[in-house]
Amino acid sequence: MTKSVDDLARGDQEGDDQDPVYREQQAFGDNPLEVRDTDHYTHEYVGGFVDKWDDLIDWKKRYESEGSFFIDQLRARGVKTVLDAATGTGFHSVRLLEEGFETVSADGSPQMLAKAFSNGLAYGGYILRVVNADWRWLNRDVHGEYDAIICLGNSFTHLFSERDRRKTLAEFYAMLKHDGVLIIDQRNYDSILDNGFSSKHTYYYAGEDVSAEPDYIDDGLARFKYTFPDKSEFFLNMYPLRKDYMRRLMREVGFQRIDTYGDFQETYGENEPDFYIHIAEKS
Ligand code: SAM
Repeated sequence: MTKSVDDLARGDQEGDDQDPVYREQQAFGDNPLEVRDTDHYTHEYVGGFVDKWDDLIDWKKRYESEGSFFIDQLRARGVKTVLDAATGTGFHSVRLLEEGFETVSADGSPQMLAKAFSNGLAYGGYILRVVNADWRWLNRDVHGEYDAIICLGNSFTHLFSERDRRKTLAEFYAMLKHDGVLIIDQRNYDSILDNGFSSKHTYYYAGEDVSAEPDYIDDGLARFKYTFPDKSEFFLNMYPLRKDYMRRLMREVGFQRIDTYGDFQETYGENEPDFYIHIAEKS
């Protein structure tokens, strides 16, 4: 029988300890809705989730749906060096290396970086330059200045306090060259917050293999449930960023021009974009 991670977090431990789901549990404790903490992401991206996610999100399909949007944006600005600040399992880092960008791959989760490194080898024999770094102390662990920093795949949403968001944006700003560009994407939380649970819809990744749906929403928490074909479930607790708030923060940290794009790729039967992409220029 498949157990949800919450069953496991509640201490229902009768399973086989060889089963990866039992070995690598997400830990949300007794009250998952109280987990609103920037530091918690390393407990959410555990091995079982990372492996399953990456097995099911077909990189080829992701390439096709994303097209050359990011590459075109970077090339149009003469970018040569890129810091992938939220490497995850390495999708964008590999894409950038393929396109000839000099790329450094950072992430705060060692498990993600391990997977990214092996993916780099598997998808084209690239040796990723990985750095384990939390964004809030990025300048301490990553060196150099970059033409561009990307933080993609709805990653910034893991920061739960405004102080952490400002600190992160300031760290990104400091690591960019004087005319550098920051690209951050985010889920369209405005639509979920404004239309409430009645509008709750399921997002499908890579066809219908993995579904993501809001499990709980308030102004300070968006808890999403990810369901896999074997019915196993994983959760992510995120902060529901509003689009205009995000744009304001970037402006206040010093970015001079911010363009926000809507991405319709993942939407099934809805008119609003599921994702926004902010492109923030330093000068
Ligand atoms: N960009 C990848 C993609 O699109 O597939 C990964 C996205 S994943 C949703 C978010 C990533 O952000 C995770 O790998 C997580 O470890 C990382 N992350 C979250 N908070 C972080 C922080 N404070 N510092 C560094 N990395 C963080």
